[in-house]
Amino acid sequence: MSTSVTVPAVTLNNGVQMPQLGFGVWQITPDDQATAAVLTAFDAGYRAVDTARIYTNEGGVGAALEQSELNREDVFITTKLWNNEQGYDSVLRAFDNSLAKLGTDYLDLYLIHWPVPFHGKYVETWRAFEKLYADGRVRSIGVSNFEPNHLRTLLDTATVVPALNQIEFHPYLQQHELFELHKELGIATESWSPLGQGTVLGDSVIGGIASRLGRTPAQVILRWQVQLGNIVVPKSATESRIRENIAIFDFELTEADMAALAAIHRGERVGQHPNDFIDDF
Ligand code: NAD
Repeated sequence: MSTSVTVPAVTLNNGVQMPQLGFGVWQITPDDQATAAVLTAFDAGYRAVDTARIYTNEGGVGAALEQSELNREDVFITTKLWNNEQGYDSVLRAFDNSLAKLGTDYLDLYLIHWPVPFHGKYVETWRAFEKLYADGRVRSIGVSNFEPNHLRTLLDTATVVPALNQIEFHPYLQQHELFELHKELGIATESWSPLGQGTVLGDSVIGGIASRLGRTPAQVILRWQVQLGNIVVPKSATESRIRENIAIFDFELTEADMAALAAIHRGERVGQHPNDFIDDF
């Protein structure tokens, strides 16, 4: 018999409430597998899904929304604009395409997936995001993989401050500069690859805390980020792990645990640095 967890919400800078833990669906393809995984996640209590145009599974997420008994307004859907869609008119077209695939008439959150600074288009792209927001077609807009200089450039002309910046964040990459800057600017931090794609799960410090608390390493890592105030979107296609990753709201890490986890930062990425990212297929 399944049990369902209630996830707390964070309030974004425009007042919109977003579940602090969501379900990441990168690499869950084809569509029918994404549909099955999202339905399992809904059953476990997840109410937020993080997809992207480039994941090629927006259709699968849309089918899960349709097949689920949840109301549209009970679910928080994020998708992202791919790099080769940056530019004012192309954003408006890309947004319509994503909505059609997701089978919905609004988004909860739309993100610029990467700044791709050498394209020189993210400021113009943001203007189109602001138009979609002003038109009420998306409840909040944000960015992903923006470095401090990209955020500052955006804010020079922006009329809407991004609700959040979704960045690689896990115990081995704690993003100190962005974490502080986000606080100063009122931008929420959302962690992608919060488990370091599995690479941090064997860490002895994490393992020690997990054994003491009778929890798993994945639960300790996700709980640590929730206590930092981050939004997390772990991914798994395995039902037991989908359930394990959401079962983190009934225990607490001590200050000593938080300090021990802060100390294992290594500056190690599992993904690419935003300045080097040139993949715009
Ligand atoms: P993750 O850190 O969530 O790790 C996922 C992997 O960890 C799984 O494939 C599985 O191998 C393992 N895992 C998951 N739960 C586990 C558990 N309980 N026990 C043991 N192993 C477990 O990595 P991710 O998929 O790269 O990131 C999560 C989500 O972040 C993605 O699905 C996507 O939505 C988002 N993301 C965004 C960007 C971006 O550029 N904005 C980039 C990467 C990922």
